[in-house]
Amino acid sequence: METSKKIVLKFPRHLADKPIVYRLTKDFNLQFNILKASITPSEEGLMVMELVGEEEAHRRGMDYLLQSGVQVQPLSKDIIWREDLCTQCGACTVLCPSGALIMDRTTMRVSFDSAQCVACELCVMPCPPRAMEVHF
Ligand code: SF4
Ligand code: SF4
Repeated sequence: METSKKIVLKFPRHLADKPIVYRLTKDFNLQFNILKASITPSEEGLMVMELVGEEEAHRRGMDYLLQSGVQVQPLSKDIIWREDLCTQCGACTVLCPSGALIMDRTTMRVSFDSAQCVACELCVMPCPPRAMEVHF
């Protein structure tokens, strides 16, 4: 039976230009749909994708990704912006690779779009008042 899973992949810098995702289809018969992709400030690759295939293909595909040096995590975390704690300092907007956290240059107010968030957690530790929370 085919199942669909949403996962977050983190590619170290030296793997960013390798055809790793392509092999999920070619070698493991997994169909993929890239939902979001971006590059972090340290030039790591971040990708959110939906993978569809047989359970055994998922397992083998995940083993292949991990052995290749790609970090894999299920998209099961929610990142919550505690607007009540946010001091509008803007530090997170420089770090956010997906555009989920942005600063309006006119009003100098920060906003958070959870639909754009890839749950990379880059914004969590640097936020001085801990306004970005990870919920499982
Ligand atoms: S780093 Fe924290 S306090 Fe600063 S704008 Fe972002 S969420 Fe708000
Ligand atoms: S976890 Fe934070 S830095 Fe990462 S995409 Fe979501 S809002 Fe942006």
